[in-house]
Amino acid sequence: MAQIQTLAVKSDCREVLINITRSVTNAVTASGVTDGVAYVYCPHTTGAITIQEAADPDVALDISHTLTGLVPLDAGYRHAEGNSDAHVKASLVGSSDMIPIDGGRLCLGTWQGIFFCEFDGPRNRKVLIKVLEG
Ligand code: ZN
Repeated sequence: MAQIQTLAVKSDCREVLINITRSVTNAVTASGVTDGVAYVYCPHTTGAITIQEAADPDVALDISHTLTGLVPLDAGYRHAEGNSDAHVKASLVGSSDMIPIDGGRLCLGTWQGIFFCEFDGPRNRKVLIKVLEG
């Protein structure tokens, strides 16, 4: 069974979706697993994982912009750290995704990519990848 692999992800602004597909693909290759699933997990409370269109970078910008509209920076939150919007966005998007692996390849659709979602950057982040065989 392959070990957990850790990706270092650095965000350079408060809110950004970062395409990590190539790194996840490399982790799958390094695991040696040809049939199974890749479990991609964000161990942060103000970051998330999503699968979305990677061909047009405007899609990621639209998602970020829409989430900001849905969850304002200041809405009378109680949390004293002042980043409740980021916590709410992280919960809406979710902390993980699973992608099937077939023949050593991630079964992503033609336009799909895997994104780390930063909601309270800039920060140095980790994304964990567990490749499961079966
Ligand atoms: Zn907080």
